[in-house]
This record gives sequence, C-alpha cells and structure tokens, in this order.
Amino acid sequence: MIDPAEILHRTFGFVDFRGVQRQVVDRVLEGRHTLAVMPTGAGKSLCYQLPALAMEGTCLVVSPLIALMHDQLRAAEAVGIRAATLTSADDNRDETIQRFRAGALDLLYVAPERASGEGFRNLLRQTPLSLFAIDEAHCVSEWGHDFRPDYRLLRPLLDSFPEVPRLALTATADAHTRADILEQLGIPADGLIVAGFDRPNIRYAITPRENTTRQIIDLIAEQPGPGIVYAQTRNGVETLAEKLAATGRTVLAYHAGLDPAVRRRNQAAFVASEDAVVVATIAFGMGIDKPDVRFVAHAGLPKSIEAYYQETGRAGRDGDPAVAHLFWGADDFARARQRIAEVEPARHAGERARLNALGALVETAGCRRRILLKHFGEDPPETCGNCDNCLSPPGAVDATVVAQKFLSAVFRTGQMFGTGYVESILLGQSSERSLMNGHESLSVFGIVEGDEAALIKPVARALLLRDALRANAHGGLEFGPGARPILKEGARVELVLPPKRERRRKGRGTG
Ligand code: ADP
Ligand code: ZN
Repeated sequence: MIDPAEILHRTFGFVDFRGVQRQVVDRVLEGRHTLAVMPTGAGKSLCYQLPALAMEGTCLVVSPLIALMHDQLRAAEAVGIRAATLTSADDNRDETIQRFRAGALDLLYVAPERASGEGFRNLLRQTPLSLFAIDEAHCVSEWGHDFRPDYRLLRPLLDSFPEVPRLALTATADAHTRADILEQLGIPADGLIVAGFDRPNIRYAITPRENTTRQIIDLIAEQPGPGIVYAQTRNGVETLAEKLAATGRTVLAYHAGLDPAVRRRNQAAFVASEDAVVVATIAFGMGIDKPDVRFVAHAGLPKSIEAYYQETGRAGRDGDPAVAHLFWGADDFARARQRIAEVEPARHAGERARLNALGALVETAGCRRRILLKHFGEDPPETCGNCDNCLSPPGAVDATVVAQKFLSAVFRTGQMFGTGYVESILLGQSSERSLMNGHESLSVFGIVEGDEAALIKPVARALLLRDALRANAHGGLEFGPGARPILKEGARVELVLPPKRERRRKGRGTG
C-alpha cells in the first residue's frame, strides 16, 4: 500500500492532514468501521477519497442528493481520481457499469435507494470493493434532522459485504443521533471520531426581531464584505432583497423558485464579488466554496441547532473575523410547534427536543458558543469572549409577576385576543373595543404600571417560546402546557434584558 502522506502530497497537493483526517484515514486503512463527525469545511471528502486511492478495489459512496454528487464528482476528477456517478440522471450508465466491472473506478457515487436492488448487489459482487463511504450519515436516524427512509436500506447491503470497511460521515449529529447512526450502520462505539466544532473567528449574536429590515440594514452597514441573509420563504427573500437594495450594496436573490439560469448567475456573481449580499432561502450555500463570507444573518429561526451551526459556518472560512447574527421572534416558535403537531407522532419527541435546544440558545444570558459546542458534545469554557453575551453581558430580571399578570389577562379576556390587545388591557388603555367587550371592569385592567410596562412584550415572547401561550390561527393567545407551572406551581420567568447597544437602537425609533 502506498504511504497515505505521499498520496496527500502527490494527488491532493496538501502539505498536512487537517484535524482528525489522519486519525480517520488510518482507521479506515486498518479496515475498521468508523463514524467521522466533522463540521462542514473540515475536509470530509478526503477521508474516503484518500483510502479509495490507497486500497485495492472501488469505494462505493452513498450520497443523498444528485446535485451534491455531481459537485463531488467534479472535485474528485479535478485531482485525477477515477470516479463516476450511477444515478437516474446519468445517461452514461452503461459506460459506468463497464468501467466499474473493469476495476477502472476508484469511486462510485450512488443514491441510497439503489442499495436495495438485487441487480445492484450482484453488480457489486463483480469487482472488489475497498470501502463503503456513507455521506450525510445522519439521514439514517429518525433523531437526525433530515431522516431519509432510503438510508435504512443500506444495512442489509453493508451486511452482505461484511469484510468491506464502512465509513459514515456527517457534519451534524448530536449525541443521540450519533449513537443511532452507530447502531443503524453496525459501527462499534469505539469507531466514533469527532472533530472540534469551534469556529473561534465567528462572532455569534442573537436578537429578538423588532423591525427585521431595519435590523438587517444596520448589520449590513456595519459589515463590509460579502454576506448571506437567510429568509424563511421565497416571498420573504424577494421582499427583503428589494428593501436591502436601498443600502447601495449589490443585493442578489436566491431561492428555488427562481429560473435556474438566474439562480446560477446570482450564485456566480456572489462567489466572484467582494461586497455583495445574497438574500436566500436555506437552499443557498450547499456546495458553495466562498471562504471570505464576512457575515451570515438569519431573518428567522433556523430548523435546528445543527442547521444554525451549518448555515452560520459558511461565514469566515478563511479564518478572518466574521459575524453570525440571528433575529428571532416568538411567532417562529409558534409556527415550529404547529409544524411539529403535523408530523407523525413517532417524531414528536425528537422534534420537540430540537426546538427546545434552539429555545435555550436564543434565551440564554450566557455564552452562545458554549451552548453550541456543548450541543456537539464538547466541554467548552464558560465564556468565549466572542459572542454578544460575552462581549456585553445582558442583565437579567425576574419577570414572574408580569408573566402571571399577562397570563391572567389572557384568561380573563377569554383566550382569544392577540398580544397588542392584552397589553392595552394590562396598561389600562381605554378603547372602543375594550369598552364594548366590557374588559375595563376586569381586575387586570391597568394592573401593570411604571417600569413593568416595558416588560410586557418580552414577557409575551418568553411565554410563547416556553409554550405557556400558543397563538391560534387568528393570532389569538391561548394557554399551552407551560402556563400552569407559572400560575400555580411557582415557576419563575427570568428575562434577559438586551444589552445597552440594542436598547439605544430601539430608541432611535425607525419605523
Ligand atoms: P466537507 O465535506 O467536510 O465540508 P470538503 O471535503 O469539501 O469539506 O473540504 C473542504 C475544503 O478543504 C476543500 O476545499 C478541500 O480541498 C480542503 N481540504 C481538505 N483537506 C485539506 C487538507 N488536509 N489541507 C488543506 N485543505 C484541505
Ligand atoms: Zn461567548
């Protein structure tokens, strides 16, 4: 066998292995099953490409997306690796099968659904296999954020080639998902190799939404250099891109509904640019190698901590300072809960745990990086010195009494009004509506005064986040399971007060 270091230099042109690459490659070359958890950009491809060159036979790479496969194929061919894809989108399948049979392929990329076919299994018996590489391996787990039933077809295939080593790869796996991947793919617990997840040059900041457009315009004004703004819907992308154009920066839109030619053009323009801002849905970023992205903004809550880490991880790949700023609202949590209610019950617990982890991240008065890294199984220091809360520690205030008053006003007005109306009742603001409803005679009318008044909106947000309140289809607030502990069982509601800078900004009163 050729020395791995020599292949690294000669074929890939790299000076050294990075991070855990050497550890993964060595283990694979020993023929042992392995799960490598490495953040995006850490160099996962090399971990199977290099053994594929060093070992006898063909390495079968399982990958969930055809577009991703074709990107990887191009990259592999560019360094002279003999590779091919075998998918329904390829019209050279006969040629690929011949190359495979002739032992002329180092890598063969396939989609997971192919694994179940008897014909395919027979084909695999016709040539020695060096390795099974299972990319995006979290797809095999229902705990993962991206479960794909087709991945469950892999195990019988793997088991029918017990002597072929397995290398599962993922960027995104919490402890629970990791354990599940090991079990599902038959990899022993000592086969788990986890890379460091910290991205010290990224400064994390998380702020409640007040006026998203204004907040993002401010962010852009402070951040020269290329940036990505993630919006949640295609419509959101269009409107935000229009409004941001007023900043004078080049603003590009990107979402799946755009004409493919426009999408390609905008992506190419962004990659080439030194100061463009792309407003995009999360479809944007996969397979894009732009090291100098200076900021990533989220106009709404991402799907999970994994998704947040992956999306923010597109900032500062060159190691220079970069910013990741998330703007969230209580309605994000309400919508997420609605979505959870719609998925099959078996997945509720996992989805809820994922949402609560996000809740803890946005609500904390402590270090954001610590929460992120702990989520990925690391044991980071209490403070990082490079997130909003470390740089400008927020004050905390006990808002339990205001929370109780808010809940009680929701209850006494019949659990059908929105935040604005409930607030007006609590403040004792008389209106035609409150008169007509007879709400001015309620004991909660005007019960909040003075300094407490400023806490009403943050309290409403905190109650929605905790599922103490839920918004119905018309925006009316109803009690959720979290209400009782606060009203009856002495649960406290602590609020994090935004750091001074944010408060000053709010005071600027931009509408
Ligand atoms: P991942 O799949 O983990 O996101 P990739 O395999 O796409 O990462 O690699 C990310 C980038 O790092 C690529 O541009 C790749 O060429 C580069 N890279 C990988 N390994 C090394 C290394 N040992 N030294 C230098 N660059 C590397
Ligand atoms: Zn910190």
